Amino acid sequence: NRQPLIAGNWKLNGSRSSVVALAKAVAAGVTSPVVEVLICPTSVHLADVLGVVGNSPVHLGAQNCSDAISGAFTGEVSAEMLVEFGCEYVILGHSERRAMFHEDSALVAAKCLTVQKAGLTPILCVGETLEQREAGQVEEVIAGQLDALLDAGGVDSFRQLVVAYEPVWAIGTGKTASPEEAQAVHALIRERISSHDAAIGEALRVLYGGSVKADNAASLFSQADIDGGLIGGAALDAASFLAICEAA
Ligand code: 13P
Repeated sequence: NRQPLIAGNWKLNGSRSSVVALAKAVAAGVTSPVVEVLICPTSVHLADVLGVVGNSPVHLGAQNCSDAISGAFTGEVSAEMLVEFGCEYVILGHSERRAMFHEDSALVAAKCLTVQKAGLTPILCVGETLEQREAGQVEEVIAGQLDALLDAGGVDSFRQLVVAYEPVWAIGTGKTASPEEAQAVHALIRERISSHDAAIGEALRVLYGGSVKADNAASLFSQADIDGGLIGGAALDAASFLAICEAA
């Protein structure tokens, strides 16, 4: 009875006119009340996109947020600001931010706690690199990424939160984890939270991300512990994104 969530991570793409067109096409195409649909444009595009989806069933999210509430943090955007622009969700700890912007799990955990205080739901991204997978470290890596938040905020910080499992080797590569490979990690994630609190673990939505396309979505989403997807490239095309929403 976990509601499926399909989230589009638009990353660093689009212009004011193209994101409005994409948001309009997505909003016009969402029909199922069963699946929750979320789009995450860049922060500077939030106002334009809110203007389109504000009165639609499509939810709005951001791709990053400061761990600070306000003050002398040049270039940052705060959780309160995201709330003011209609955001309900924020993607945190994406592997691109971990790898390119040096975000470690402690900082990501701090961000999760900050945004939750403002009423936002974090989408906490976890995932191993190919090197880590080949070295047999998948469980250890994922556990470490989850434990940083368990240590900082306790299991209660997983109540208003979504986890996204995104194997780094599957992002933007066209290589997806097989449904069975993904399911195995999703089950690990849920077990780790359930071992602290069975009800929180059972209610936790765990999304899969990494080269999800219209033609592989249904087989991934049919797995017991896969509760939807975090979609990159395919979310930039309304027809593909809507087809993925239909598959959930
Ligand atoms: P792709 O769907 O382009 O592989 O990206 C996945 C992703 O990083 C979503 O956050």
